[in-house]
Amino acid sequence: MNFEETIIAPASGNSSAAIALIRISGSQAIETTEALFKTRKKLSASASHTLHFGKIMDGDEIVDEVLVSLFKNPHSYTGEDVVEISCHGSVYIQQRIIDLFISKGLRMANPGEFTMRAFKNGKLDLAQAEAVGDLIASDSKASHKIAMNQMRGGISNDLQALRKELIHFAAMIELELDFSGEDVEFADRTGLMNLLSKLKQHIQPLIDSFAYGNAIKQGVPVAILGKPNAGKSSLLNALLKEDRAIVSDIAGTTRDTIEDVIILNGIKFRLIDTAGLRETTDTIEAMGVKRSIQNALKSKMVLFLYDRQDTTEEEILEMLKPLFDKELDLFLIENKIDKHPHKEEFLSRDVIAMLKQHFEAVNEQAISAHQAESVHELAENLAEFVKSWHQDDQMVITQTRHLHALKSTLDSIHDIENAMEMNIPSDLVAQDIRLAIQHLGSITGEIDVDKDILETIFGSFCIGK
Ligand code: GDP
Repeated sequence: MNFEETIIAPASGNSSAAIALIRISGSQAIETTEALFKTRKKLSASASHTLHFGKIMDGDEIVDEVLVSLFKNPHSYTGEDVVEISCHGSVYIQQRIIDLFISKGLRMANPGEFTMRAFKNGKLDLAQAEAVGDLIASDSKASHKIAMNQMRGGISNDLQALRKELIHFAAMIELELDFSGEDVEFADRTGLMNLLSKLKQHIQPLIDSFAYGNAIKQGVPVAILGKPNAGKSSLLNALLKEDRAIVSDIAGTTRDTIEDVIILNGIKFRLIDTAGLRETTDTIEAMGVKRSIQNALKSKMVLFLYDRQDTTEEEILEMLKPLFDKELDLFLIENKIDKHPHKEEFLSRDVIAMLKQHFEAVNEQAISAHQAESVHELAENLAEFVKSWHQDDQMVITQTRHLHALKSTLDSIHDIENAMEMNIPSDLVAQDIRLAIQHLGSITGEIDVDKDILETIFGSFCIGK
């Protein structure tokens, strides 16, 4: 990728809309726009962050009347000169304008290239750049919050500060090496041990937050389970009605099973393989319980539905047994309470206590899939339950890349601690510290990150970002 070149791309997607945005970045951005854009004041003579009305001309022909926003380096998203053209949203007009600029020597931007340039020019660190991708993909309140926080430096700032302190120790220990033979100690060993425990206290919760962060980003996988006629498809339909978010199928992933994605109280849930629930009861029976069990094993949360007039405690336990000790959260949902509003609990407390030993969590709720109010309460409880997995929204990681780097940092920290305890020579300790520094630096991109990794990160972005 040649960053000397000036790039152009549509930033508002490729379909027609009232207005479209075309983005240009690089040293030729202003000069090339001046050649094609007829306006009162020259852009090169104008201040940064100004708006200009005028016409995009192809020779004598007016292509469109547009608004041009001007951002002069270094005060722009990419850190380079940036021009953004708001034109009418016709795909034809957008293409004409882009072709005109390309004929003047610009080239189409690669996916994520604007953000990659922002990273290269120090406008964003790598973790923040990744958060930009998450922000664009965010489709629920919770995923938006995590991405926004990370983009604003949420996890980067602390990690960078801790890394700086480690660098200081590495430098001190390496200084000792220059004086080997003389018995000097520049690095304060107690200070280093304190820093290491500070690092561990910071890193471990971040590692633990991944399960939550990932579930929020991808959606929490949920399976609906229960005997035929328990009301599973009724509940599914009722839950789908609870989703007030506008869901479009832009993501358009093809799967061999039907998954319904719903957003309940700001949390995204993926209802695993609801195909069976859409078919007739006969088909469910034909498929047997086996498939439902497989779905449940693919999920994180199981909604187990029963009708007390149609089941026994033994039957429920029999169905739940294959799910024991699989790190699942269980919601035991008694359905059809409109038919028989019993007050006393159906499942004995002994059974609940036993189930609690085999599931991560056991929640109980009574509903009527036919009554919106109780389904609404269930939806709220499901969302609240997920939120309770993690207390601190500020400190959540969502990238596998960060998880691996943090785990490697932790390994190096343990190596340093062991080395210090065993009085291993300073040069080996210094090596371990350098490793920890490197792992930490890879998160924010303070060290040279592999070109392949960068390309993977930015290649997943859309064009124009
Ligand atoms: P599934 O086989 O588990 O998917 O069960 P269905 O959702 O198809 O429901 C089976 C039957 O129970 C249908 O006749 C539903 O109308 C009925 N049903 C489901 N939920 C309720 C409820 O909350 N109250 C009442 N009275 N009937 C229900």
